[in-house]
Amino acid sequence: MAKGLPPGYILDAAGLFRISLIDSKALFTTNEVVNEVASENERLIVNSYIKSFRLKVLEPDKKASGLALNITGTSPRLTEADISVIALALQLGEQYDITVITDDYELQNVLALHNIKCKGIKTTGIKKIIQWTYRCTGCGRYFKKPFEICPYCGSAVKRKPRKIKDKTG
Ligand SMILES: [Zn+2]
Repeated sequence: MAKGLPPGYILDAAGLFRISLIDSKALFTTNEVVNEVASENERLIVNSYIKSFRLKVLEPDKKASGLALNITGTSPRLTEADISVIALALQLGEQYDITVITDDYELQNVLALHNIKCKGIKTTGIKKIIQWTYRCTGCGRYFKKPFEICPYCGSAVKRKPRKIKDKTG
């Protein structure tokens, strides 16, 4: 994000799974992400990184968490762990040139919208950035926030891409 800052990486669950491939002294994640690591083998590896201080588990502060919740208000498919990753990226962006390591398309999309760098482990990363909108299948009204049922006519609301721009950088 900013120039002249040391590189730092924030890992989501997919990132943790491939932590050995990432060569950096500044590796971060959150408790929510660590809790998503299901397999015992993966947990052992992650714990060894935490114990040897090669991976720092941080709680995003309230200000960053609030900002992240604002940003993700229109992305109902993001998990609590995803939101915590976004919050930590916002918070650490003042000290590090942050890259988020994630294979999650939804998360990559939100990060790209807010000019936070991300890198996929398995995927090549997204080529386009999508902003979602919500449209009633009955009356056709558009909503910025997700509704399951249209508050005007009671029909189902479907998610649609609103703005698609080519990813820069
Ligand atoms: Zn409607």
